[in-house]
Amino acid sequence: MSGTDVLELTAAAAAAQVAAGTLAPHELFEAYRARAQADRDAGEQGLGCFTWVAPQDRGAGADAQRGPLGGVPLAVKDLFCTEGVPSQSGSRILEGYEPPYTATAVARLLEAGASLLAKTNQDEFAMGSSTENSAFGPTRNPWDRTRVPGGSSGGSAAAVAAGLAPWAIGTDTGGSIRQPAALCGVVGLKPTYGTVSRYGMIAFASSLDQAGPITRDVRDAALLLAHMVGRDGCDATSLQAPEAIALPSAQRLDGLVLGVPEELSGEGIERGVLDCFAAALQRAQQLGARVQSVHLPHAPHALSAYYVLAPAEASSNLARFDGVRYGMRAEGAEELLDMYTRTRHDGFGAEVKRRIMLGTYALSSGYYEAYYGAAQRVRTRISEDFRDAFGQVDLMLTPTAPTVAFELGAKTSDPLEMYLNDYCTVPMSLAGIPAISIPCGLSEGLPVGLQIAGPAFSENRLLDAAHALELAFAFDGSAARVR
Ligand code: GLN
Repeated sequence: MSGTDVLELTAAAAAAQVAAGTLAPHELFEAYRARAQADRDAGEQGLGCFTWVAPQDRGAGADAQRGPLGGVPLAVKDLFCTEGVPSQSGSRILEGYEPPYTATAVARLLEAGASLLAKTNQDEFAMGSSTENSAFGPTRNPWDRTRVPGGSSGGSAAAVAAGLAPWAIGTDTGGSIRQPAALCGVVGLKPTYGTVSRYGMIAFASSLDQAGPITRDVRDAALLLAHMVGRDGCDATSLQAPEAIALPSAQRLDGLVLGVPEELSGEGIERGVLDCFAAALQRAQQLGARVQSVHLPHAPHALSAYYVLAPAEASSNLARFDGVRYGMRAEGAEELLDMYTRTRHDGFGAEVKRRIMLGTYALSSGYYEAYYGAAQRVRTRISEDFRDAFGQVDLMLTPTAPTVAFELGAKTSDPLEMYLNDYCTVPMSLAGIPAISIPCGLSEGLPVGLQIAGPAFSENRLLDAAHALELAFAFDGSAARVR
């Protein structure tokens, strides 16, 4: 195979060719390594997808035993601890930090035969929707370099869309896999909370954080997820899902009842996105699904609850970064408290500081009930809304993000405007249920994502429905590939 043909393969197809002996894994790795390194060397002229690129294929020499993932190179979000490799969560405070161990999700993928290609850029501590909050500079959207790739897993999504990595993993706390997948025209899946171990993921908000795949197509997402899941003794909130992840093959949606939550599919969503969404619903009907409207009465309060709960958990999780145990330590301090203060002052960016202050305030004794307690009650209501709605429908459809990719800098001065990106994705995070974003068309030449959500542990049903819709949409992402 020629070099460019190799780059056109999906990851699953590449793994199949490796298994058949028609593709050498080290050739595949070198083809991608060269492209990823070129992006990194290009600095501001490149897309800024990566914070680190592997100097060589660590699996080389073991070609005979590449496992089910066939040595296919994998890009990993910066916040996954990876032994001996910089793992910085996009933050100055962890600059150059090389952990002594590897996150379970990554370790499982490497054991299954993936090869570590690169670490990807992200918003600092996964706080953001545009990858502009990275201490290492922004990532650009390969569809239009003046625009953001979404966030916080923007480096992973842009790398897959641009063909600089065959597939990638990211994390999603309130939308950080699904929203960048939507803005970059790729597939992103946030699994049911607990199905993938959080061990070794640098924490943002532990009751919400969940790892998942970002891929070119739905089959690749299933293949990657199948090797990430499972109970892990190192994460007490992880669990064994009731069924194994299967590769999807459905081409029709006959017999499925799909709900469209009115609260998440109208107001605040831009015209072009709504047009694509309406066309997607028509496609679903043509494939045999019944589409009906449902209600999630508390969903409009999800963002407010999320922006109390996530900062509250973050303020606690980020207390460990004090200049003693990890990463940087500010110079010139007179005594211990001064050293803590200076380290955190210099090491954290503005958004992270904003969240630590919000979270600390929400948890303070006089306000705990008024903010944290109230937000937890809203979270319960949202879970109940989903439970009731899933009594009437099998899956739900919404737009993934309210807009297409926006210009770099357009929302950086207005945090509330930035937070609205997650309007459609945060409710599923609060309820802990799985949701996938697949590209469903273009608006003004930029990709639009369709979100499909299901009850806990419905990943196989979600993947099947996404697969059938993907075939029908026949979305062409080739315009985003870096030549
Ligand atoms: N954009 C949201 C936030 O800033 C979600 C981020 C995420 O899912 N990690 O918190």
